[in-house]
This record gives sequence, structure tokens and C-alpha cells, in this order.
Amino acid sequence: MQASRTRLASLARAFTTRAVDGFPGAVEQTGSRIYGKAEFQNPGGSVKDRAALGVVEDAEKQGRLKPGGTVVEGTAGNTGIGLAHVCRAKGYRCVIFMPNTQSQEKIDLLRMLGAEVYPVPAVAYEHPANYNHQARDFAKALPNAVWTDQFDNTANADAHYRSTGPEIWEQTQGDLDAFICATGTGGTLAGAGRYLKEASGGKTQVWLADPPGSVLASYIQSGGKLKERSGSSITEGIGQGRITNNLGTFINDITGALHIPDEKSIAMVYSILDSEGLYLGASSALNVVAAVELAKQLGPGKSIATILCDGAYRYQSRLFSKKWLQAKGLEGAIPEHLKKYAVL
Ligand code: PMP
Repeated sequence: MQASRTRLASLARAFTTRAVDGFPGAVEQTGSRIYGKAEFQNPGGSVKDRAALGVVEDAEKQGRLKPGGTVVEGTAGNTGIGLAHVCRAKGYRCVIFMPNTQSQEKIDLLRMLGAEVYPVPAVAYEHPANYNHQARDFAKALPNAVWTDQFDNTANADAHYRSTGPEIWEQTQGDLDAFICATGTGGTLAGAGRYLKEASGGKTQVWLADPPGSVLASYIQSGGKLKERSGSSITEGIGQGRITNNLGTFINDITGALHIPDEKSIAMVYSILDSEGLYLGASSALNVVAAVELAKQLGPGKSIATILCDGAYRYQSRLFSKKWLQAKGLEGAIPEHLKKYAVL
């Protein structure tokens, strides 16, 4: 089975000639080229298809997964959707545990793809009832079942090292000053980032973009102090409370980190839809905000790549709902002329 390649979109109109910095109406020059890797074009619709195929094929190679077997995973949804596709294609049963805070669209899609889904209370990683531990225990109790362990199984980052990284390098023709993206498992950032650093002989900087409620930006900015996790974000699928195996020691090779508040991410969901016609989820929007901020920090004439992780389809009942925006206190973050897009 082959992962498909995705396009590298040049976010030209919005960000080469003028940059929307995430706040209503703010327009300025970055003078840099900003590229978004169009991961929403993957068969399962997200960047996590690569990790899903990677962890399943690794389990097969190791002989841990045999014909007729079951794949079990804890996921915010996108890895599950990728796994559901891979399992359909390869004939495995797919069982997904996910926190019950995730969007209904993702749960529905998983079930439509034939996965069994168990939404469970969203409790911290340290709690035995955390969705990951439930997935691990479920797999342990079932013959011929594997827990693919996306957070700590480095077959995840390896998949990005083998595909996402080389594709970005090739598509930018090796002209890349920086790569920046947010992290859930760390697979994308560490896998693609490590490849890009190696391919460029250390010239390409790798930066982390972090949402509220995540501890990684402060870990990097403080030179290695891990604080307690607190707060939350509307950006589903990203943010982390610990150094996963997929991030591992690569976290020490990260040049810097940018913390992006939800107000900027949601404003970018709307403004990139308006300026580029790209219907993107909030983690993609956060990545674009971060890439623009990094462009301003690094100065003009740079080439910067980020990840467009998935589309807005799987969150639209939230992101484009006036009621939901109000409940989250984010209505005021949407520029007046873009409020027309909140049609739900
Ligand atoms: N964006 C979205 C929408 C995701 O679902 C995820 C993964 N949970 C990520 C970004 C982060 O990717 P990674 O796990 O490779 O860090």
C-alpha cells in the first residue's frame, strides 16, 4: 500500500503580497514565501493518514499483526479515520477509543468507515481511564490485536521522515529556511523536521507552534522546564502535556516555539477561507498564523513551510456556528467582514 503524495500550496495571495496576522483587519507585508503542505488532500483527509499506514505496516513487519487481526488505537479522531481506511483496505477490524469532547463529525465518519468507536470521558493522561490506556488495555485482552500506540510508537515519526519530509524538501527544491507546525503526537514535527534538518545540513530551522493548554512551547522557551498542563484550546488534535517518544530527543533540536492563542487561530480559519478559498481546520489555521509570525521574526526573503493538517468539514458544526463561537467567547475574534461565513 502506498501513501499518496499531497501538493504544496503556495499561500501566495494572502501571505506573499500581504499577510493577515490573525487579528481582524490587520494586513502587512512579510516579504517571504509561505507554503502549506496540503495534507487535507490525503485519502482519509488528514496528515494522520501517513502515521496510520506507518504504524500498521510496522506492526505487520514485526509479525504483531496477522491477517484477520484487530487494530486498536486511542485518538482525537484523525488517526482513527486514517486507520479505519487502512483497516478497510487490508481487512482488519478497527477499534477506536476517543475523548468524548471531539466533534460528532469525526465519530460519524469513523463509524461510516466501519470502525467501532468508544467515546470515553476526557481525563488526563495520568488517569487510568484516559482513552489511550483504555485502548492499550482493550488490545491486551484480545487475541491477535495490536495497540498501535501513536504517541510513543516511533513508526509514526518514521512515516513522516520517509514521506512528508522528503516531499516538502523536493517541492521546495531544497530552498527552505524554516519548517513550523503544531504537535499532537509529535510525529509530523519530529519526523518531517528531522528529515529537513538532515537534508539541509542543519540550515532549515524547525519551530514548534503551540496552542493554549499545551506545555511544549514553554518547555522549549524555558530551556527544558516541564510545567503542569492547564487550560484548553478549540484546536482539536494538537497540544501536548508531555514529551512523547515521537518527539523524543528531537525536542532539543527545535530552534524555538510560538504560542498561538485561539483568537488568532479562529480568525485565520475565516480569513484563509476568504482569501485563499481554503476550508481548513483550526490546527491548520494555527500553523498558518505561526508561519506568518515566524516570517515576521526571521525577516523578509525567507521560505517557510507548514502543514495544512485537515479540512474544516470535520469541525464545521462548531467552527461555523454562531452559538458555538459565542459559547467559546470567540465571536469577537472574527473580523466583521468575515462573519458572513458563520452560517450555522
Ligand atoms: N492537526 C490535527 C487536526 C490532528 O488531528 C493532529 C493529530 N492528532 C495533528 C494536527 C498533529 O499531528 P501529530 O500527531 O503528527 O503531531
